Amino acid sequence: MLNIAVIGAGPMGLAAAYELGKQGHQAEIFEYDDRLGGMSAHFDFDGLSIERYYHFVCHHDYALFDLMRELDIYDKLHWQDTHMGYYYNNALHKWGDPFSLLRFPHLGMIDKLRYGLHMFLSSKRKKENWHALDTDDAVSWIKKHSGSRAYDVLWKRLFELKFHHFTDNLSAAWIWARIRRVGRSRRSLVQEQMGYIEGGSETLLNCLANEIRQQGGKIHLSTAATKIVTEDRKAIGVQTADSLHKFDAVISTIPLQYVPRLVPDLPEQIQKQYKNITNIGVVCLIFKLAKAVTKNFWLNISAPDIEIPGMIEMSNLRPLPDHIVYVPYYMPQEHPKFKWSDDRIIEEARQYLFRINPELSEKDIIAVHASRYAFAQPICQPEFCDNLPPMKNVIDNLLIADTSYYYPEDRSISESVDLGRKLARMLCG
Ligand SMILES: Cc1cc2nc3c(=O)[nH]c(=O)nc-3n(C[C@H](O)[C@H](O)[C@H](O)COP(=O)(O)OP(=O)(O)OC[C@H]3O[C@@H](n4cnc5c(N)ncnc54)[C@H](O)[C@@H]3O)c2cc1C
Repeated sequence: MLNIAVIGAGPMGLAAAYELGKQGHQAEIFEYDDRLGGMSAHFDFDGLSIERYYHFVCHHDYALFDLMRELDIYDKLHWQDTHMGYYYNNALHKWGDPFSLLRFPHLGMIDKLRYGLHMFLSSKRKKENWHALDTDDAVSWIKKHSGSRAYDVLWKRLFELKFHHFTDNLSAAWIWARIRRVGRSRRSLVQEQMGYIEGGSETLLNCLANEIRQQGGKIHLSTAATKIVTEDRKAIGVQTADSLHKFDAVISTIPLQYVPRLVPDLPEQIQKQYKNITNIGVVCLIFKLAKAVTKNFWLNISAPDIEIPGMIEMSNLRPLPDHIVYVPYYMPQEHPKFKWSDDRIIEEARQYLFRINPELSEKDIIAVHASRYAFAQPICQPEFCDNLPPMKNVIDNLLIADTSYYYPEDRSISESVDLGRKLARMLCG
């Protein structure tokens, strides 16, 4: 039996520890935050326990389904027909099915057909065929297949608000994988369907934590790992603020940007590779409202004077006591808005909500909260993998990964639990 440290209690770290326990090893998790979950963590939002960041499940999140079956909580997974909308300039349009596309007034018929066909074929493209897209940049790929007009009308503003100055250097494979994941989550060609976990992601996180403890594992919250200690190029322990904990091996699942500080003994060349990975942060607002903004779960927004690419009305997916709307602002940390106070960002977003639904007013806002995550999303340029250091590098008994390692797939709980379990199996041979 090995004693193994896992750094980070997000879905990846928890899944790694759970799998280690299943294989008969002793896992000990160190988590900086005061709670489980990382990006999928809950908080108390005016009496409602809900994720700090919106979370939904897609039809092909198989690794998540397998884990939920194993944990005997598969019955907590529910599916709901959902709607999408597109707020374009000053009008709300139905979106997300062929009829809505045909009715959309801002594109000609040829552009609509090209766009529709491109989205359809992208959702049908086989997962293993992503390599052919890996060298292309996303904007050129979209323009080539959907046409420049469709890119300018439907994508440009969304990309610029989400990816900012990285927009022209995004991997086509990465954007395709996102289109595919969401595009395949449908009950039929005309009906999108999304899933949610009853009680939210916390249901899964708590269940994993209970299993880990029952297997004899330990979870230390509010305990940051400050250093992975090595000896003769082998990981031998984890340093925290007050002690050195000795282990046979270590798995790190924290964002790669923290790795150079955590593992100072890595050669400079590898440190540089981690430092070169770019990432954007998020300031995510959550509103509790007395009235719905729209009936859509997902609303794309493209208007010259609205600086958010969309909003997610969670109560249109999950039954919740009030109307819950997330408004994410994705930004590089050096973006001036990242330094705005919560109040200032909330005030801006509040005006956007009133504009999209003029029937909403101040009295309908019951509560609002802002959460920030510094490294919310790696930015994946073409051939992203080529620049990633291997998960197992020159230090023995040490594995390092984060959401970047399931490229071209976008970050998700399902991919993180899948990779977490794989890391555990890699370490146990
Ligand atoms: C805005 C937003 C929306 C999302 N929407 C969805 C969605 O709809 N569906 C979906 O499936 N997924 C979604 N995700 C993604 C999902 O939340 C992530 O893929 C998943 O949580 C990643 O888990 P992880 O364990 O790999 O990493 P993380 O969640 O980043 O966990 C890493 C953990 O490491 C901890 N840590 C950092 N430094 C240290 C240290 N020195 N010592 C100890 N611990 C440390 C952090 O506190 C954190 O808990 C979303 C994420 C965001 C930000």
